[in-house]
Amino acid sequence: MNKCLCLLSFITLLATVGAICFIVYTASTGKSESWKIISRNEWAARQPKGREHIHGPVEYVVVHHSYIPDVCNTTDACKASMRSMQDFHMDDHGWDDIGYNFAVGADGNVYVGRGFGVVGAHAPRYNNKSIGLLLIGNFMEKLPPKPMMEVAQKFIAYAVEHDHVVVNYTLYGHRQVRDTECPGTAFFAQLKFWPHWRPI
Ligand SMILES: [Zn+2]
Repeated sequence: MNKCLCLLSFITLLATVGAICFIVYTASTGKSESWKIISRNEWAARQPKGREHIHGPVEYVVVHHSYIPDVCNTTDACKASMRSMQDFHMDDHGWDDIGYNFAVGADGNVYVGRGFGVVGAHAPRYNNKSIGLLLIGNFMEKLPPKPMMEVAQKFIAYAVEHDHVVVNYTLYGHRQVRDTECPGTAFFAQLKFWPHWRPI
């Protein structure tokens, strides 16, 4: 093989290896893998009127749908949904703050409601021993988009990893602990297959 051909083969090999590395890297950091926590400041939350704290990891995760508003597909729309729910909970219900601890949007992010270590207003008898996790949307007849459900499950795993939720936690749909259709009939049928879901 002459020198020139040899060099050409070497460059081709380098380019191929480079392309494969790029594809593997892109696949491993694809958008569906990444989610972020959107702080209260970022969605322009109002100050809570009060706050009661919970100490140590909680035993339950209670899952909700919002019914109204329906699914939000962009971060701006989800921020607006958070503000409208907070206004409704504080002004119409007279609660201290938005009722949920966290909310997942169809934009693939998790929005801080009351946050970790704070008593919620989402499920009587469970508010002081659970995380109220909302999936923003009406899931009576349709499922939350698949990436949204994946982010919700990843968020629960993150909460366990960071000691906010016990390792052997129990997952409930809101309707299991109260007379309500929440988190929607279509979604609840699916929720029963999530890790740690238990009949009451
Ligand atoms: Zn609910």
